[in-house]
Amino acid sequence: RWMGVNEIREKYLSFFESKEHLRLPSYSLIPQNDKSLLLINAGMAPLKPYFTGQEVPPRRRVTTCQKCIRTGDIERVGKTARHATFFEMLGNFSFGDYFKESAIPWAWEFVTKVLELPKDKLYVTIYLDDDEAFDIWTTKTDIEPERIFRLGKEDNFWEIGQGPCGPCSEIHFDRGEGKINTLEEFLKAGEEDRVIEFWNLVFTQFDKDENGNYNRLQSPNIDTGMGLERMATIMQGVNSIFDIDTMKNILNEVCRVSNTEYKKDSKKDVSLRLITDHIRSVTFMVSDGILPSNEGRGYVLRRLLRRAARHGKLLGVDKAFLWELCDVVIENSKDAYPQLEEKKDYIKKVIRLEEERFDETIDQGIVILNQYIDELKKEEANTLSGEKTFKLYDTYGFPLELTLEILEEQGMNADINGFNEEMKLQRERARAAREETNYMGTEMDIYMTLLAEITTTFSGYTDTKTEGKV
Ligand code: ATP
Ligand code: MG
Ligand code: MG
Ligand code: MG
Repeated sequence: RWMGVNEIREKYLSFFESKEHLRLPSYSLIPQNDKSLLLINAGMAPLKPYFTGQEVPPRRRVTTCQKCIRTGDIERVGKTARHATFFEMLGNFSFGDYFKESAIPWAWEFVTKVLELPKDKLYVTIYLDDDEAFDIWTTKTDIEPERIFRLGKEDNFWEIGQGPCGPCSEIHFDRGEGKINTLEEFLKAGEEDRVIEFWNLVFTQFDKDENGNYNRLQSPNIDTGMGLERMATIMQGVNSIFDIDTMKNILNEVCRVSNTEYKKDSKKDVSLRLITDHIRSVTFMVSDGILPSNEGRGYVLRRLLRRAARHGKLLGVDKAFLWELCDVVIENSKDAYPQLEEKKDYIKKVIRLEEERFDETIDQGIVILNQYIDELKKEEANTLSGEKTFKLYDTYGFPLELTLEILEEQGMNADINGFNEEMKLQRERARAAREETNYMGTEMDIYMTLLAEITTTFSGYTDTKTEGKV
């Protein structure tokens, strides 16, 4: 049955309330007292003090719908059917209360009874040697045992450094025809976005010590995460997260303001989806009090915003337009996040200012580039040095593909190898800086990712690394 995003969210939270969970509102995207994380990237992240026992939870069973940002997925956004930088994660958590024996049957009950997903489209993965999970799946639910696949550490074991960790079990939905019989078929179907992972049940049962030993925890925890947009994609029978009710409303608006038709040109489609995603991230980040800047969270915000603006330019938009898209983003999420509506004018102002600042950057960059071009002409040369190309990009924030485009109009080019050299040096500097500020995980990698992205997309739009189909 077709279900809207808001209905799925409510169904999930009230289902776990019926299992005696306390419903808590989403935490801010800004981690509190947690230096290891730049932005909240999972439902469990703001609950860490309850898992480690540092703080006492208001109840030992909690359910939330958490705003998340995963900049580590930035390159996949718009290219796969299932990745966004901003998404909502539904979760049920047990702080030393229930364990696998309840978490698994409840997940199955929710998916098959409440959402009424057909059992012959569902597959489950478990960690290689987690026989306990296998036994619970096969005795406490009615899933067919041959629909359970065992996967290794990379997919089905959750750990970050030392501390609480454990195996997990994930639930997947198959949108293809026919039964999947082997692990190879299953993995291939996942790569092709035929099979979509939508729910991760993490069984935090170990404490990893400094010698790498996994010590069984006295009272293990449960941490689960279900992607709301992914579940909506499944419930609405649509191709990608960008086709679900809320996202489609935004995408339509992006099409309108950019005067671009969707599904006419696959390169433009990537831009349309990317803007749709990034404007959501940006709107939520600003509403949580983040401001564009040159470091940390503010830098993530700035790059997301500028990246969206740049793709707007690629679509031929010649004015600030992102701030106008906030209305539709807010309209779609204000019921779950009322502060969006309250801060609407503020959010729009911040975004508009930053967009205009970016436009100035572009104008300034063009002046400088024209000087470089004049110099080249005088020298009767036609290759802009790597150093200057990088300076435009790094110091003036001028997008590389624009530099190349403008040079090309003059029958010129840039020393890309030299540019890459400069970038390598920059990366090393960024890495050193990152170690200094002690940001863990993938969040600070956005810097490197964005730098890398520039080198792979300068030739226009060739997305050679397209993963899956949209
Ligand atoms: P994938 O393998 O598809 O990248 P993941 O294994 O990285 O997903 P988890 O860390 O297990 O994801 O997060 C739990 C759930 O959150 C996922 O099962 C999915 O439903 C959702 N999710 C994760 N990353 C994203 C994303 N970038 N966009 C939308 N939903 C996501
Ligand atoms: Mg992932
Ligand atoms: Mg996965
Ligand atoms: Mg996963």
